[in-house]
Amino acid sequence: MIVAMTAGAPASATEAVLAAARAAGLEARAMSDGHGGALVGIHGTLDVEALRLSGIAGIQPKHKPYMLASREHRPHAPTVVKVGDVRIGGGRPVVMAGPCVVEGRETLLETAIAVKVAGADMLRGGAFKPRTSPYSFQGLGEAGLQHLAAARDATGLPVVTEVMEPESVDLVANYADMLQIGSRNMANFPLLRRAGQTRKPILLKRGFSATVEEWLMSAEYILAAGNPNVILCERGIRGFDPAFRFTLDLNAVPLLRELTHLPVIVDPSHGTGKRSLVSRMAIAGLAAGADGLMIEVHPDPEVAMCDGLQTITPADLSAIIRSGRALQTALLDAALDQDKSLVELPVALSA
Ligand code: PEP
Ligand code: MN
Repeated sequence: MIVAMTAGAPASATEAVLAAARAAGLEARAMSDGHGGALVGIHGTLDVEALRLSGIAGIQPKHKPYMLASREHRPHAPTVVKVGDVRIGGGRPVVMAGPCVVEGRETLLETAIAVKVAGADMLRGGAFKPRTSPYSFQGLGEAGLQHLAAARDATGLPVVTEVMEPESVDLVANYADMLQIGSRNMANFPLLRRAGQTRKPILLKRGFSATVEEWLMSAEYILAAGNPNVILCERGIRGFDPAFRFTLDLNAVPLLRELTHLPVIVDPSHGTGKRSLVSRMAIAGLAAGADGLMIEVHPDPEVAMCDGLQTITPADLSAIIRSGRALQTALLDAALDQDKSLVELPVALSA
């Protein structure tokens, strides 16, 4: 059940509801409603009225299993995650771009400058890489994190990078502005719990065999551990056709708008596995309502040490960003013309 506190209720009133639920042996979590009020999610049923607690505005007995991630929890205030000066979910789509893996200080710096000039808002790059083969390059580890931090200092772009195990969360959080939990670790529950204990924004990629509900339950682990700064990233699911490395599931984007208040971004690089498809699927992701894009970019994709086949050049990125802006304008114009079929779409693009 979800208990909504009145707008002016003091923190002690929320604490009293939490304490009553816990005294009854129920899991309970408080969260902002995005409008200055508090909501308490209680896993189970508590006769709140009989307890005569103060400061309660209303009770919603039924909710989704992902009670904190659910849109019901914040119907009027989608979550905006701030990463430095970048606002994800704030209306303007954000672009995170960079190499699959950090290869060295100079190449990373060159790439960071190039993606910034192309119009990217954040730099991506893996220092700890989950590779299918144990014989493949596994990333530079802490040295890679240092290169990312240096590139951030040089360009001002906040950095996002993957963390693969709970023990490394503090190390990676020391250098990165946002932690990425990769597809292969979406259901690594100890990692999710540990990431939930930080306040760092978490980019949670969809497991490539995970249902939307399983994905939202993984987000719930992070939220339930106390970190409200979660962004979902659709990165493709495993299909049957070897023509594609993965199949970008754009159905998930508008569905997630209905199901959750969390921002959603799209990764057309892993979602296609094929360089020639990235631009169109990036724009399709924005048209589907994504709050942003994550794209693999390298100055010379042919020699990239990882995922070169799906990696684009900075010039390609620049073209995507220009097209994205044109799309945004077109959708806004359509909304102004009251075209009902598009009115819902530009909500994400209207800042
Ligand atoms: C990545 O972003 O480089 C990556 C490994 O992504 P995923 O976890 O989606 O495969
Ligand atoms: Mn990659």
